[in-house]
Amino acid sequence: MALDKDAWVKRALELKPESRMYINGAYVDSASGKTFDDISPRDQRVIAKIAAGDTEDVNRAVAAAKATFDSGVWREMNPRDKKAIMLKWADLIREHQEELALLETLDVGKPISDSLNVDVMGCARTIQWYGEAIDKTYDEIAPAPRNALAMITREPLGVIGAVVPWNYPMIISSWKVAPALAMGNSVVLKPAEQSSLSAILLARLATEAGIPDGVFNVVTGLGLEAGQALARHMDVAKLAFTGSGLTGRKMLQYAAESNMKQVALELGGKSPQVVLDDVKDLDACASTLAWGIYYNAGQTCNAGSRIIVQGQKIKEQLFEKMSTFVDTFPVGDCLDPSVYMGPIVSTQQRDRVNHYLDMVGKNGESFVYGGDQPTGDDNLIKPTLIDGVQHDSALSQEEIFGPVIVAVDAKDETDALAKANGTQYGLAASVWSSDISRAHNFARKLRAGTVWVNTFDMSDVITPFGGFNGSGAGRDKSLHALNNYSALKTTWVDLS
Ligand code: NAD
Repeated sequence: MALDKDAWVKRALELKPESRMYINGAYVDSASGKTFDDISPRDQRVIAKIAAGDTEDVNRAVAAAKATFDSGVWREMNPRDKKAIMLKWADLIREHQEELALLETLDVGKPISDSLNVDVMGCARTIQWYGEAIDKTYDEIAPAPRNALAMITREPLGVIGAVVPWNYPMIISSWKVAPALAMGNSVVLKPAEQSSLSAILLARLATEAGIPDGVFNVVTGLGLEAGQALARHMDVAKLAFTGSGLTGRKMLQYAAESNMKQVALELGGKSPQVVLDDVKDLDACASTLAWGIYYNAGQTCNAGSRIIVQGQKIKEQLFEKMSTFVDTFPVGDCLDPSVYMGPIVSTQQRDRVNHYLDMVGKNGESFVYGGDQPTGDDNLIKPTLIDGVQHDSALSQEEIFGPVIVAVDAKDETDALAKANGTQYGLAASVWSSDISRAHNFARKLRAGTVWVNTFDMSDVITPFGGFNGSGAGRDKSLHALNNYSALKTTWVDLS
């Protein structure tokens, strides 16, 4: 039977989460003995004291990962056995869904229903999907002359360092760890300091499933310490990063200053939702636009955070419908299963959003709804829509990463396209039109890694995800992600 709010609160109060890191198949304290406070945005309570890893811990984890890689214990395992282990891991994640969901919700303020149904299930599905791919991906034979056999095989890279953010901790970790392991690599994962708990449990479940010790390690710690040490490590072959552009730049610098490791970057976005003047189903459009920004309190890299509308009349109708929709959008305690939107991850992030709300009115912008600025211990920001935003302003160009959508007017279709493509980003976009040819032509011209037509945020592990321009390079998800964690090798055999 599904738990109600009181039952979740009781469990939260009883929770004593594991807060040590996980290296070589065992929980360990940081070498320095230092910890840092893990504060829940729900009530600002310290829910755990997390082991603060630094260079020494990263060295231990990378050494364990390298030893297992070199031994071949995972890399050379029969693909069918590797698959069985990954599938068991996915099953164990599902078995521990309530515990994992609680950890995720307390750490980052995600509504418990989303943690259960989206984050935990999405993580399990991704691990299962890449597990299933292990014994279904083939290498190639090149069309060489008859007296030769030229094989092209995909080889694992070695030790993968994965550094991930707090907004979808389990899901984004699985997007990196699952294809990396499927290709036979060993992994050291550095979760964000706001969200270490689910990663620590994931690692223990991996061991329970049969992943050999040292193949999957978790080093908790601060970005500047554990994250930097991992990114600079000479034995890390590839860095898989999701996070802010600022840190992404540092990752490239660390790689250049160490061993020129490969770097895959999944960065931010300012994704436009373009509404052309012929849209008929404004109800669907309004509710989808609202979901596209308010889901996860807007803390989504591909959140549809800009509306570009062609035509004043359609804009007024759309905003009226969005206002009506958000009136029914339950905002509140993240442990209440009926809540759709919980608190912002930290007071620091909340204040960052407040800083953008402060700008409203300075250049003719106005709130259509929302706009309140919580202070003190309150991290709940209400759904907000800002109209009259200038395309070149900070509100329209910078990632706010909160439940705030800005509206920019477009004179015509050409203007809408120029504005949609007119930021440093290129992660995602949508176009709304009742003329499928018009929508399709527009979609082809949008410069974004994912484009939705008459919908938003539909996705699955089956399609690649990543950005153009300042949104990064490299793709998570789908079979294409296997390329991120492997190198092609040619073996030419003389048959003559
Ligand atoms: P962040 O860049 O501050 O942190 C991300 C990770 O990097 C964390 O684990 C952090 O500890 C680590 N880190 C921070 N500074 C570091 C340093 N100097 N050296 C090494 N590691 C360091 O980002 P955040 O605030 O945690 O996450 C939010 C950002 O991530 C947003 O900008 C968002 O758009 C982006 N994001 C992008 C995607 C995507 O797929 N494109 C997905 C989710 C989030």
